[in-house]
Amino acid sequence: MKYTLDTIPVLDAFKQDCQCPMCRLQILCEDGYIDGLLSSAYMEPECRVRTNKTGFCSRHYAQMYERRNRLGLALMTHTHLQELIRSLEETMGTPAKKNSRLPFFTASVQEDGRPAKIRAGIDACDICDQLDKTMRRYAFTVIRLVLDKPEFKSRFEKTGACLPHTALLLDLSEETLSGRERETFESFLKDVTLHRLHEIESNLYDFTQQFDYRNAGVAPTQAARDSVEHALNRLAGAIIGDEAARPAHND
Ligand SMILES: [Zn+2]
Ligand SMILES: [Zn+2]
Repeated sequence: MKYTLDTIPVLDAFKQDCQCPMCRLQILCEDGYIDGLLSSAYMEPECRVRTNKTGFCSRHYAQMYERRNRLGLALMTHTHLQELIRSLEETMGTPAKKNSRLPFFTASVQEDGRPAKIRAGIDACDICDQLDKTMRRYAFTVIRLVLDKPEFKSRFEKTGACLPHTALLLDLSEETLSGRERETFESFLKDVTLHRLHEIESNLYDFTQQFDYRNAGVAPTQAARDSVEHALNRLAGAIIGDEAARPAHND
């Protein structure tokens, strides 16, 4: 797949001090997609064909429910349900085959079994699909900026990325780079990632030490105080505190 650079949002995100500027980008895009869907996109036939097919994941159903446009959500959910009912009639109407080699297991443990088909439908999500495409383009842009712009490289060095976005950067490195460039980028990414993780590990240790009676009366450093929140946001992507905050809405 060919990716295009999208430099300005990436440069803006990397001006912020946080565990992962790519998480900030993702939260803003996610919010933008939800805005777009609920304001007018749900009336566009092309969009409805997609949302009828996939529906949304639990995170995005919950985020849309928090907004005021219940009619948009109701219309999308209604036509998705109609399509889902038709497909469930087929999926659940087909008797599961017994696996002759494993008599104690039924087709339900097979990847293409009926429960697996239902679960695949639950996990599918139009917003996740759109976000995934955009974040791949941003990850490609981050890689190119690290390789081509020394000032961006030193900026990235100061923050690094959360583990989910580190994995995404590696994905894009494998997909788009080769030879010397790939070696250079991946070795840089490894150094930055491990350096940041060692730092958090050490701050977490300091945090735990304040509960030792021998350190009674010793005030923990700010880095130690922030270490649990920083560690969780680094390990799982922005999930806690200001880093996970979504833009405020009046609706
Ligand atoms: Zn992230
Ligand atoms: Zn989703």
